[in-house]
Amino acid sequence: MIAKTTVKPTARLVEVFSAIQGEGLNVGTRQIFIRFGLCDLRCHFCDSAHTWDAPSLCKIELSPGLRDFEMHSNPIPPATLIKWVERQNLPFLHDSISLTGGEPLLHAPFLAQFLPEVRAQTNLPIYLETGGHRPDQLAMILPYLDSVGMDLKLPSVSGETHWTEHKEFLQICFEANLDIFVKIIVSQRTDPGELERSALLVAEVGQDIPIFLQPVTPLAESQQFSSVPVEAPAPQQVLEWQALMKKFVKQVRVIPQTHKMLNQM
Ligand code: SF4
Repeated sequence: MIAKTTVKPTARLVEVFSAIQGEGLNVGTRQIFIRFGLCDLRCHFCDSAHTWDAPSLCKIELSPGLRDFEMHSNPIPPATLIKWVERQNLPFLHDSISLTGGEPLLHAPFLAQFLPEVRAQTNLPIYLETGGHRPDQLAMILPYLDSVGMDLKLPSVSGETHWTEHKEFLQICFEANLDIFVKIIVSQRTDPGELERSALLVAEVGQDIPIFLQPVTPLAESQQFSSVPVEAPAPQQVLEWQALMKKFVKQVRVIPQTHKMLNQM
């Protein structure tokens, strides 16, 4: 007879720190960021390519916002991460906990154990930032989430194509009554036909789901891994695209990455 395993899943982390959210529906709020390693996509505009592989070390902030990092070896068990998050959680400071990456859903078995515990300990809402292409893993942690920011990847801009998965993913979030929004990165290369298809996809799930068009932040030469140019759209393009999408959905907001303007992480 094979004995039941009691080994808890572990996670490969990149960093844990406290900062101001710069994107989407939670813009301007203070969050405890947990950045997970590993990503299975390769978006042309990625500014987090350092998260793609499993890092051997992670950076853990000791005091919220002070950037006094300590290095720790991966992988990390749930109880250790809870201890680090509790240390960050000073009274009244944070609005929520942000799960970001990389792709956090590649750590779904870990999250299924970590999230109920961290919610109980901190009482903070849980926000998931995701590529929106892994509905099966989303289903594993759905009861422990409060809000989700789903990237909808335009093939013309990201080089990734996941229309079917995005639709299923959004539908699951909607039916679970989560606070959801859709983020779409746009560049000069954006195909307006793909924006129309995106707006229709979102409208079919819920016309009230907000869409955030995020003009791409051009990458420094040292960050570029793709030969496809990543250039911000012209002001006129953004105005036209917003008007196009508003024929199908109620809210289309245009917001760049504000944390980069504020020199936040
Ligand atoms: S999903 Fe995010 S982390 Fe992964 S390649 Fe795309 S932008 Fe980078």
